[in-house]
Amino acid sequence: MIDTRTLEVTVLPDKTKLRLTRICPLCGKRHSMIVDAAAYSAGLKAYETQHLLVQQAWPTFSPDEREMIMSGTCNDCWNSLSFF
Ligand SMILES: [Zn+2]
Repeated sequence: MIDTRTLEVTVLPDKTKLRLTRICPLCGKRHSMIVDAAAYSAGLKAYETQHLLVQQAWPTFSPDEREMIMSGTCNDCWNSLSFF
């Protein structure tokens, strides 16, 4: 389940990219990433209306990008979690 309440979405000036910003629930740091606007919107719609898995909704996004959309867990925390 995507917690969209804590996901800030900003449209960049050229309108083809979005900046997604959220606070990592593990380390509390603020992280941003830039994604393709069309791919993000299409994926979100597919996720919500067709109940797809995030891997199916955003096939072109990296696992890090999908993780950030889903839970907000940042790359650093994700990498340190993977050790356990
Ligand atoms: Zn973190």
